[in-house]
Amino acid sequence: MADRVSMPERLRAEGKRVTRERELLLEIIDANPHLDASEIYDRARGVNPRIGLATVYRTLRLLETMDVIDSNDLGEDHSHYEMRQDDHVHLVCSECGAVLDVAAPFDPRAFGRRRGFEIRQTRLELVGVCDDCRAKSRGEHRPDLGSGPGAGPRP
Ligand SMILES: [Zn+2]
Ligand SMILES: [Zn+2]
Repeated sequence: MADRVSMPERLRAEGKRVTRERELLLEIIDANPHLDASEIYDRARGVNPRIGLATVYRTLRLLETMDVIDSNDLGEDHSHYEMRQDDHVHLVCSECGAVLDVAAPFDPRAFGRRRGFEIRQTRLELVGVCDDCRAKSRGEHRPDLGSGPGAGPRP
């Protein structure tokens, strides 16, 4: 892999305009992959209280069309964002929603090429139960109350 140049630097080198909003969202997404738009908005507001939700949505769409970030619904009804990176697989926990990035166990591009297909983006998701959640269900009895926000199955 090439030296890691910061994403704003890379964009500037490509002649793209990097506004403060774009830079801020990129920093947030880079440090916290797989957040959804409202989580990104919450963090962005912590840094710049004047940023609006509409700006966040617009900037996310733009960064996506610039091929800088990818979105993935991860089995939910809204998008999660991450920096564009090498082909990888998402291990998604159906209990707590944790998402693990792991390297793809095969080369998706070669796989496509053998079928005369040019792969441009990979979205591979394996759904299961993470280590923590399995330990919880094995171990201590979990009371119905007191589980963290977002925990438990969706209605
Ligand atoms: Zn889990
Ligand atoms: Zn990922």
